[in-house]
Amino acid sequence: KKMSGAEIREAFLSFFEAQGHSRLPSSSLVPEDPTVLLTIAGMLQFKPVFLGQAPRKVPRATTTQKCVRTNDIGNVGLTARHHTFFEMLGNFSFGDYFKEQAIRWAWELSTGVFGLPPDRVWVSVYEEDGEAEAIWRDVVGVPPERIKRMGAADNFWSSGPTGPCGPCSELYYDFHPERGTEGASLEDDSRFIEFYNLVFMQLNRKPDGSLEPLAAKNIDTGLGLERMAQILQGVPNNYETDLIFPIVQRAASIAGVDYHTAPPQTQTALKVIGDHTRAVAYLLSDGVTPSNTGRGYVLRRLLRRVVMKGRLLGIREVFTPSVAEVAVALSPACDPGVGANAQRIYDELAREEGLFVATLERGQKLLDELLEAAKGGSRVIGGADAFMLYDTYGFPLELTQELAEAAGVGVDAAGFEEAMGAQRQRSKDSRETLDLTAQAGLAQLAAQVGPTSFTGYSSTRGSGRVV
Ligand code: ATP
Ligand code: MG
Ligand code: MG
Ligand code: MG
Repeated sequence: KKMSGAEIREAFLSFFEAQGHSRLPSSSLVPEDPTVLLTIAGMLQFKPVFLGQAPRKVPRATTTQKCVRTNDIGNVGLTARHHTFFEMLGNFSFGDYFKEQAIRWAWELSTGVFGLPPDRVWVSVYEEDGEAEAIWRDVVGVPPERIKRMGAADNFWSSGPTGPCGPCSELYYDFHPERGTEGASLEDDSRFIEFYNLVFMQLNRKPDGSLEPLAAKNIDTGLGLERMAQILQGVPNNYETDLIFPIVQRAASIAGVDYHTAPPQTQTALKVIGDHTRAVAYLLSDGVTPSNTGRGYVLRRLLRRVVMKGRLLGIREVFTPSVAEVAVALSPACDPGVGANAQRIYDELAREEGLFVATLERGQKLLDELLEAAKGGSRVIGGADAFMLYDTYGFPLELTQELAEAAGVGVDAAGFEEAMGAQRQRSKDSRETLDLTAQAGLAQLAAQVGPTSFTGYSSTRGSGRVV
């Protein structure tokens, strides 16, 4: 079925409403839960209920939840399916229905409401969950060859190192049934996309790592709105769905390029700009402001990546407010609160972008000199110089590398890391040395925010379907 993003969202919520679920609003991206930095899943607002720390207000609920996952920053624009900001549709049971009912509704929704051909839906179950496997096989009738047992990394879900968790079962869509079932792996994302995860939330992980049963057996699910839109709209990736493509197109028009005929790196840059600008707009709307710590640092880092990608596309003027306009225009059905904050979002973007660009421009002068010198000699920018660009002018290594590459010059990345290490050693305050590009930045950030679970996720599948 060809459905718009808005239709998919509404179809999900009204399907579960018809099954007795209360439609509840999305919670803020800034969670009440002090152990998590940002809202990473629909279950977060219900965590106290799952843990028995708060009474349930309703037995069943359905939501569309705004989420930001920083663990997927590196996947944005490279895999077809990962965003930093996305909407997670969910149905929840608080000690009410359990495994069999959740599985049956998931099937009915996927093949009935969304009209996915049944033979294109594959499922995974936790390797120790024979019960779920039997339900899929014997109750729903999925042939055994399309049911895969997977290990804890994929099929045991938790929102962080402690807290409610449980085995899960995921639904995948098969883009290439002609490849047959022999040897097929759900990890192959040139063929499959995970779109729905059913978590059988029945355990609590304690700080010492041990598991105890929760007072009740609960259901927690998440269906990626953008992913279902990709499947139903027949586009090659989430970015080309009606939920995001208008944002990408605005960026393309500012850069003066045609998305569809642009080379892959340009398309990736446009996707990153579209994704991150949307994330930043929602973060600002939820009251996060740029800073060098915690959530504010996530916001700053996302925005700087947008500006960098913009520069690589040749954009020189302040452009993020204009891109954000499109994200705001698309926001009401996801979050009716964004519109009222629009002006503040644009003002904050213009200010933060302006500050970053001013620093970058000072660094550009130095970089040009270094490139000139390298062209006539070593053809490499030294690690110490790359580090100075980073440390003094805010040039993430990634930016230096991309600009140098365009000039046919390399960068001594190992030397950069060495200089960074030496600096860290000297500095008592790690806050001064946050790396804006590398994975290391995430670890540092996690350390900085203390007990906060930063990535929150047990698995990030690496390189994906590159589209
Ligand atoms: P993947 O394995 O593809 O990274 P996941 O297993 O980490 O996904 P879950 O934690 O199970 O994802 O989240 C529930 C659902 O939310 C997923 O099935 C998917 O549809 C959606 N989802 C998860 N991460 C993202 C993301 N970064 N961007 C868009 N949708 C996502
Ligand atoms: Mg997964
Ligand atoms: Mg999953
Ligand atoms: Mg993931």
